[in-house]
Amino acid sequence: MAAMHTTALVLFSGGQDSTTCLAHALARYERVETVAFDYGQRHHIELEARLNVLREIRQQFPAWAPKLGEDHLLDLAVLGSVSDTSLTRDTAFKMEASGLPNTFVPGRNLLFLTLAAALAYRRGLQVLVTGVCETDYSGYPDCRDDTMKAMQIALSLGMDQRFLIETPLMWIDKAETWEMARELGAKSGVAGGGQALVDLIVEHTHTCYLGDRDHRHAWGYGCGSCPACELRAKGYAGFSANLNKAALPAV
Ligand code: ZN
Repeated sequence: MAAMHTTALVLFSGGQDSTTCLAHALARYERVETVAFDYGQRHHIELEARLNVLREIRQQFPAWAPKLGEDHLLDLAVLGSVSDTSLTRDTAFKMEASGLPNTFVPGRNLLFLTLAAALAYRRGLQVLVTGVCETDYSGYPDCRDDTMKAMQIALSLGMDQRFLIETPLMWIDKAETWEMARELGAKSGVAGGGQALVDLIVEHTHTCYLGDRDHRHAWGYGCGSCPACELRAKGYAGFSANLNKAALPAV
């Protein structure tokens, strides 16, 4: 009989999605490590956000803290030399004629997963957890479910070790991602943990493409008008509306 999976590596960028994936992994596995890639993002704010999130999780969720192991930052500066996007150069964010945003780096996520698997191999971790999702940014072909399944097979064969790629957000929208965080926090053993995790994500995760930490909204910091902010705001509004509905007494 195959042993149950007990260890995971979370691809953790410090955004809302990957923080929710981290909570998912901490609720599920006994040992969880995190990895991010530094490829000359215009804003190192993301890299700072992830350290803040890790610190807050350790402080606020004592049942999760002992499971949370090493954090890894891998240098992927080489990616800058094959990209021509607003993430790495001073060009404005825009949608291309192909329907993909110009922040898209072809195959970026394939590289991330390959390096994550190599790291997981060295660290003895079985599950790769990633916040890819088909519902919001279906434009990213390297985030699709079929791509993930193909990668799982390629990595498992290529490293002769069975890896599981877990994608807890694949089929849910941003409102449901907020709700997932609330439910995970609520089951963490901390009184008021649901709201605490939502508050932590609002305050400390970073999503805005422009790296704006000056403007604070109900859903967190950001410029409020880039596609990432719009998506996050819309998701939070939907989540809040559902919560309010649920709080109404049954009639
Ligand atoms: Zn923004």
